[in-house]
Amino acid sequence: MIQNAYVGLGSNLGDRAGYLLLAVRGMLDAGLDVIRLSSIYETEPLENEHQPAFLNMVAELRGSTLPSPEQMLARLLRVEYALGRKRDVPMGPRTIDLDLLIFRDQRLATEFLTVPHPRLHARRFVLVPLNELVPNLVHPVLGKPIRELLSQTKDRSNVVRWAST
Ligand code: ADP
Ligand code: MG
Repeated sequence: MIQNAYVGLGSNLGDRAGYLLLAVRGMLDAGLDVIRLSSIYETEPLENEHQPAFLNMVAELRGSTLPSPEQMLARLLRVEYALGRKRDVPMGPRTIDLDLLIFRDQRLATEFLTVPHPRLHARRFVLVPLNELVPNLVHPVLGKPIRELLSQTKDRSNVVRWAST
């Protein structure tokens, strides 16, 4: 049984670490109960390689105070918007990207929302920080722990602990 929810945060424009922290603040202000944060990682862009490196992190949210998954995505999109996220270049640079990775044991797929996030297992920039928080969490669709998804993923992209200079 998975109790909590997990959100992936990413930024590759401007003050990247500043945007991650403002997004955490935004989630708290929106009533999303952030209880734990992974380390911050610097990661290679996957789909569109001609853009700056990302900073990525995963946040754990307390399950007992979660709204519905749809309501939760709506709140995440509002935080993105408030931080100046523009949706002009698909897969392109962004001040902030918030993805709902896992919502308890929920499995759902609508045109608005798919949970667990459909590309979670193919992205080291999600698996590495998620593994830091919950290596034993069993993926509700794939039936394998995060630790195993990380060791088996085909993604070879670079993900390194980030230290502010
Ligand atoms: P990406 O995060 O894949 O780079 P975008 O952030 O631009 O792409 O796309 C977000 C859109 O994807 C949202 O408008 C939302 O409706 C949809 N979506 C579907 N499932 C999810 C999810 N689990 N988390 C976040 N957005 C999702
Ligand atoms: Mg997104």
